[in-house]
Amino acid sequence: MTQIRTLLPGAQLGLLGGGQLGRMFSEAAARMGYHVVVLEPHAPSPAGEVSSAQIAEGYSSEKGLDELAGRVLAVTTEFENVPAASLRRLAEAGVITAPHADAVAATQDRNVEKAFIESAGVPTAPHKAVRSLEDVEALEDSLFPGILKTARLGYDGKGQARVSSREEALAAWEKFGRTDCVLEKRLNLKTEVSVIICRNPQGDTVVFPVCENHHRNGILAYTVMPARIDAELAQRAQQFARQIADELKYVGVLCVELFVLEDGSVLANELAPRPHNSGHATIEACATSQYEEQVRAMTGLPLGDTTQIAPAVMLNLLGDLWFDENDSKTTPPWEKLLALPGVKLHLYGKEEARHARKMGHVTVLGRTLDEALARAHEAARLLG
Ligand code: ADP
Ligand code: MG
Repeated sequence: MTQIRTLLPGAQLGLLGGGQLGRMFSEAAARMGYHVVVLEPHAPSPAGEVSSAQIAEGYSSEKGLDELAGRVLAVTTEFENVPAASLRRLAEAGVITAPHADAVAATQDRNVEKAFIESAGVPTAPHKAVRSLEDVEALEDSLFPGILKTARLGYDGKGQARVSSREEALAAWEKFGRTDCVLEKRLNLKTEVSVIICRNPQGDTVVFPVCENHHRNGILAYTVMPARIDAELAQRAQQFARQIADELKYVGVLCVELFVLEDGSVLANELAPRPHNSGHATIEACATSQYEEQVRAMTGLPLGDTTQIAPAVMLNLLGDLWFDENDSKTTPPWEKLLALPGVKLHLYGKEEARHARKMGHVTVLGRTLDEALARAHEAARLLG
């Protein structure tokens, strides 16, 4: 039996990564009376700006990690590519890590991740690991047309190539520098959904309502919460998330991205060992947000009620909104946007807007989902 330490409000908490997910974590932690110390090389950072302190060192810096270990009792992450070795070093120094290093390691390589999901009894898309020329040559016809994805460090559709033959797969694998990849069969997706789950050290879990996700150019564009899918499908997706979190003995917030196919099957696509972009709306739409659950899980507190209290649509605000049709800098129409009912604006404090960079989001609430959708439509029209 592992001993469970409860860290009460007033304690110092550590955060690996300084992005927007960390910013919203820090806000939730500060609201509950915790003090957050961020480890993030770039300063200022979205999370550092709203935290007690930032250590401006890299995620693998021994100096940075040791300083963090000296200042905090528990650490969490907001960025999936924090090296598992960094979490291990912190754990060895006696710091509670939520998630633990092994769980993070399992999600950092798509091949390992898929094997893990399957071992939890959850189906995935047909796939094969591609690590050598022989692997490419041995790819079965049934996997084409497919998507070749680099096993590591992919996000927002980066490190992916659509391929329709072994020749194209080979060319793409060469283009990726012969790095470890996975070839997945390209499926006809009916809907993309995500399930955010939180598990505490006692093994209790809470699951959020299923989110329905819509991407543009590989980047999440908007999320509808709750997802417009059958209750049975939603329950199945939530059950899969529970199976995966339990199998990982996960502690913290985990997001499971899933595909719903035309034939009604539900497959897990990938995991994110942290709060997720698709769960931003939980701040306003649920009794407890994914960020507050992250605080509760790492401190060993009882998990919060995830009941949805208002239907919501979340729109991501990408840097493109800061450029007009001539590619000149402009300011998005904040005043018009905020004049709409139900609109909650979140900006992450990033100084420089760049195309495709996540700068903020808006959560649009309604009394009914139709009202939230209509308002979100209006907000999207204003934003252009
Ligand atoms: P990441 O989000 O890390 O960039 P994903 O594996 O989630 O990578 O892929 C990005 C998007 O590409 C998915 O949200 C989905 O729209 C599409 N996609 C990925 N895998 C498949 C697949 N096997 N079949 C069809 N579409 C896919
Ligand atoms: Mg994804």
